[in-house]
Amino acid sequence: MEKNIDWGNLGFGYMKTDYRYVSNYKDGKWSSGQITTDDKVVISECACVLQYAQTCFEGLKAYRTKDNKVVCFRPDLNAKRMAESAKRLEMPPFPEDRFLEAVRQVVKANIDWVPPYGSGASLYIRPYMFGSDAIMGVKPANEYQFRIFVSPVGPYFKGGAKPITLRVPDFDRAAPRGTGHVKAGLNYAMSLHAIVDAHNQGYNENMYLDSQTRTKVEETGGANIIFVTKDNEVVTPKSSTILPSITRRSLMYVAEHYLGLKAVEREIYADELQNFKECALCGTAAVLSPVGKIVNHKEEILLPSGMEKFGEVTQKLYDTLTGIQMGRIEAPEGWIFEI
Ligand SMILES: *Cc1c(COP(=O)(O)O)cnc(C)c1O
Repeated sequence: MEKNIDWGNLGFGYMKTDYRYVSNYKDGKWSSGQITTDDKVVISECACVLQYAQTCFEGLKAYRTKDNKVVCFRPDLNAKRMAESAKRLEMPPFPEDRFLEAVRQVVKANIDWVPPYGSGASLYIRPYMFGSDAIMGVKPANEYQFRIFVSPVGPYFKGGAKPITLRVPDFDRAAPRGTGHVKAGLNYAMSLHAIVDAHNQGYNENMYLDSQTRTKVEETGGANIIFVTKDNEVVTPKSSTILPSITRRSLMYVAEHYLGLKAVEREIYADELQNFKECALCGTAAVLSPVGKIVNHKEEILLPSGMEKFGEVTQKLYDTLTGIQMGRIEAPEGWIFEI
């Protein structure tokens, strides 16, 4: 039976549900994996994840659709990206087919925690893995744990999406041949100081530039960026140090194939920002969040779409993508994974 939760007033936070999935890696192989009620992780005080941050994660959601099915959005891409992250961190990738099976198992076990259609809430799914045995010298762990927990979450922005303000920070996010393209906890640890500093200065988020030339737009600490030009072209930065957002890749497809717009991935320079008419952040948590203002040191760029609502094109992108996710609009082949 559906849990007795005020679905309409959920925030974006952790809530302990009944079940989680666990598989352990030891002696060169992953254990068969199981659903458990135990939400506590017990590992060595010298575990590689605690000393050297050997960990990566994923984030996706389960939705209840219009016809009351429970579905995930393109989880095969999360499985693949997590395997890529693991390899870059010298961790044994969790097999992609088993990742999908684990997502299915953990959502099924927690099916009463999936918010109802139309509530604005969804079930956030957090797969992650970490080096769990004691490691002193700097080297990869020998043993790992892969887990998935879930948590019902409300809309990322309560009371509608008010446009936010970004600032170009004096901190860098990712080195040219570093780890910016993988979903590693370490990328978030080092972003905490920059985000606290941004908040202290009255900005919502940091818009990072490429660290090599500091002339090109990359992304924020946890979301990719799209822009709309004055000719209604949807553009997004091309760079090897950006995290390949599944939401962004899907939005670019939607722009081209559902809205008939030109969608281009290219280098975007900070000094062309004043030419855009709309800007939004994209990622699983918020789908799209409109940007109204970008502050680059002395320069203030006010997007013509303003500080009150989504721009016209970004609103259409948002409506179409969420329509596909909730089963109101037909999805491209392979995008919807039924639980
Ligand atoms: C997770 C993440 C995103 C968003 O990716 P989605 O697959 O769309 O959820 C964007 N940027 C960074 C740095 C991220 O970690």
